[in-house]
Amino acid sequence: MIPPGADTVLVRHGDVGSKSAKVQSDMERVLRENLERTLDARDIDASVDVRWARIFARGDDVDAIADAATDVFGVVSASPCLVVDPTMRGIRRALANTAREHYDGGAFAVEARRAGSHDFTSQDIGRDGGEAVWEAVEDDFQPEVDLDDPDVTFFVECRNDAAYVFLEKRPGPGGLPLGTQRPLVALVSGGIDSPVAAYEVMKRGSPIVPLYLDLGQYGGPDHEARAVETVRRLATYASGRDLTVHKVPAGPAVERVVDATGAERMLVYRRLMYRIAEAVADEESAVGIVTGEALGQKSSQTAANFAAVDDATTLPIHRPLFTRDKQDIVSQARDIGTFDTATVNTGCNRIAPDYPETNADPTAVRAAVPDDLAELIEEAVADRDRVEVA
Ligand code: ATP
Ligand code: MG
Repeated sequence: MIPPGADTVLVRHGDVGSKSAKVQSDMERVLRENLERTLDARDIDASVDVRWARIFARGDDVDAIADAATDVFGVVSASPCLVVDPTMRGIRRALANTAREHYDGGAFAVEARRAGSHDFTSQDIGRDGGEAVWEAVEDDFQPEVDLDDPDVTFFVECRNDAAYVFLEKRPGPGGLPLGTQRPLVALVSGGIDSPVAAYEVMKRGSPIVPLYLDLGQYGGPDHEARAVETVRRLATYASGRDLTVHKVPAGPAVERVVDATGAERMLVYRRLMYRIAEAVADEESAVGIVTGEALGQKSSQTAANFAAVDDATTLPIHRPLFTRDKQDIVSQARDIGTFDTATVNTGCNRIAPDYPETNADPTAVRAAVPDDLAELIEEAVADRDRVEVA
């Protein structure tokens, strides 16, 4: 619900506000730029300012501005608001107009906050503002005040140079502004898990370098299209940044692994993936690897098996979904819009031996790595394609 005459969206951050003054102001700048990029990418006109640890975006289409803001990492909530003089008269009038438009029954509350010097308190705003709402509608129906469980809440935020009246706080993703961390290589398969994992690190500020391994005969024909499509969806959260997919032709290396291994196959295959990711990370100045792996989700994802693969790379392997249940991941994939493209099996199932190892001996796994794999990896990485998703 939007107050009549609203021309500003108040955007709030969360964790950014827990930083030292210097870091906070740097992060607010990045957040502002990301919001501007998102608005630009959606052709929405607005001017964006940072004041008192809040971001204010002014423009005609406050509905679209607020929706865009809630797709920007670091944003906790966004409210389309009516901006008025910070006087009791101005606030009363704004509340009365807003009530006539949006309050047509049930109980209401006025929730006021105030900072700065005024000749009234926030309790005064609650009381006098409540009276203004009441008087605006009492000829039409019997208003009712319920401060604990109102049907309509009139929010007032009063500052020295303006007061903001709004009716809703649209939730954003939270997290930290994208670009406030160094990039990570995201292993993206187009399945359900990996896009959610990539989303999670983006949400905490790391840009991603999406990496898709073309598994040759072990990848299905729609495999690549799915991976690219999910990255395209992730790009809507990337503040207008380009998320070029690095597509590495890993078929020959995977075939070598399949030929050379038995029970340890999936683990040697995992090591192969991390080595490729590490090589791409080196070239793209990324400082870690992100995967959609979760503890116990697959035979290759047991606690013992992670211990047998992680030393394939010196880079940290981040697994944001490590403790998450599948249903929970599925529901998040639906929320962020990556679920629909992520369906059917990946080629990994066909690579797996009949009796995959779940309690690998790290030494045996290292010994099972074919000698010429490093060479095949080097060739594959050198031959990679870049698939634009913008
Ligand atoms: P998802 O691929 O979404 O995780 P999954 O559970 O089928 O679904 P696995 O095959 O177990 O995935 O792979 C575990 C992780 O390895 C993935 O989350 C992803 O990060 C990475 N991965 C798997 N296959 C590929 C691929 N072809 N290209 C890039 N990364 C991949
Ligand atoms: Mg998985």
